[in-house]
Amino acid sequence: MRCGFCGYEFREEDANQGCSSCPLTSACNKIKCPRCNYENPPEPSLVRNIRKLFKKSGS
Ligand SMILES: [Zn+2]
Repeated sequence: MRCGFCGYEFREEDANQGCSSCPLTSACNKIKCPRCNYENPPEPSLVRNIRKLFKKSGS
């Protein structure tokens, strides 16, 4: 995905998961940019599914 703040592209696996100071840690699923720590909202599942379709046809 791409960071909405600095435009840095990274995988969700590489993101800084959760926020330690957040009292709703278990419910907080924001994706933190490893570069600027901006909390990106999670991608809509629809977009994710479409990407999966493209990946399948690509490989
Ligand atoms: Zn960023």
